[in-house]
Amino acid sequence: MREKSNSLFGKARKIIPGGVNSPVRAGKSVGMDPPFIASAKGARIQDADGNEYIDYVASWGPMIVGHAHPEVVAAVIESAYKGTSYGAPTEIEVTMAETIVQMVPSVEMVRMVNSGTEATMSAIRLARGVTGCDKIVKFDGCYHGHADSLLVSAGSGLATLGIPGSPGVPADIAAHTISLPYNDLEAVEKAFERFGAEIACVILEAVPGNMGVVIPDKSFVEGIREITRRHGAILIFDEVITGFRLALGGAQEILGITPDLTCFGKIIGGGLPVGAYGGRADIMGRIAPDGDIYQAGTLSGNPLAMAAGLATLDILKRENPFDDLNRKCETLFAGLEKAAQNAGIPVTVNRIGSMGCLFFTQDRVTDFATARKSDANIFRQYFQEMLASGIYLAPSPFETTFLSMAHTEEMITETVRCAEAALERIAHKM
Ligand SMILES: *Cc1c(COP(=O)(O)O)cnc(C)c1O
Repeated sequence: MREKSNSLFGKARKIIPGGVNSPVRAGKSVGMDPPFIASAKGARIQDADGNEYIDYVASWGPMIVGHAHPEVVAAVIESAYKGTSYGAPTEIEVTMAETIVQMVPSVEMVRMVNSGTEATMSAIRLARGVTGCDKIVKFDGCYHGHADSLLVSAGSGLATLGIPGSPGVPADIAAHTISLPYNDLEAVEKAFERFGAEIACVILEAVPGNMGVVIPDKSFVEGIREITRRHGAILIFDEVITGFRLALGGAQEILGITPDLTCFGKIIGGGLPVGAYGGRADIMGRIAPDGDIYQAGTLSGNPLAMAAGLATLDILKRENPFDDLNRKCETLFAGLEKAAQNAGIPVTVNRIGSMGCLFFTQDRVTDFATARKSDANIFRQYFQEMLASGIYLAPSPFETTFLSMAHTEEMITETVRCAEAALERIAHKM
């Protein structure tokens, strides 16, 4: 049934580490080899053997308007005919910056990079440069890409593989990273009491999506805003997932909290490699060449990535699909929750906007420690059953299910029906 995928994976494993270019894709934690994808359209994705699935991975978030949206494809093709990179300034970069600045009020200036990893890495360098401090505060289970400073207690990929940090990150660098439990304001207070004068910044996923979905207590994020302001530390929202997904203005719009810097990625590239960081003009003004803090990129602001990203943002501005996405996601997760309950399988749902996660535990999930209570064995079976019935989920219990504008009510009904059957079968085996 997946002969071609299996054969490709066999070949890949000999010449690509683990057979994949990003670890979670390999599906180790779900005990099966990954389907190789050949094409995608709307909310459907097809593997190399011609099997079709309803896709809830959405390339891990970017594909909010659906795969191969005609406007995005047209923008990329038109751009490609004019050359794929110049290494010189272009008009579309100005348009992109104007669009971001207009959509996200806290962003007064923005710099484009090539990945979310680059965005967070650069924002942290900037925060350190501006404050003259070395220490950073992050939260357990928040993932901010794979830069050395941030690979400490970093959520999904590492949690899935059971790697606590990573060999190759110098202890001297990790020592500057303070990782605290999410939603625990007291821990933040204490860290600042002890190290306040040495802390450059606090970085967080304002709505975490890399330990499954976790809903922030508003007072937690407000408290961090207040503490960072009081201590002169820079507050960085990592909105690589939530930017342009939870609202036109991201998680910060929903929370009504203004960070100093924000990191973007995923959606602003429309499926092409991209990232961005932006925020207060007085801070961003310190970046070279106007300032002394260095950050650069041969392909940064790449015209194809800008074209795909802008086309995506244009669709979002025009259609304002967020209420609709929220409604569809609510229907989906209400159905999934009921299916698990009917099968007698303990379940907790965390959901916001077009992001949701089914944790196989009866306890509330508010941070990484509670997320890890989700039963990995049930998830493995659930994942396999769902894939076999044509539903493509992320192969990890610590990932977010993403809805796109292309998901229809019928697809959601079908997904819930598959889940009901899958969970019944799993319950029978328990
Ligand atoms: C995906 C992600 C990143 C890293 O982005 P890449 O483009 O994979 O480097 C950073 N932060 C968050 C919150 C992410 O989800």
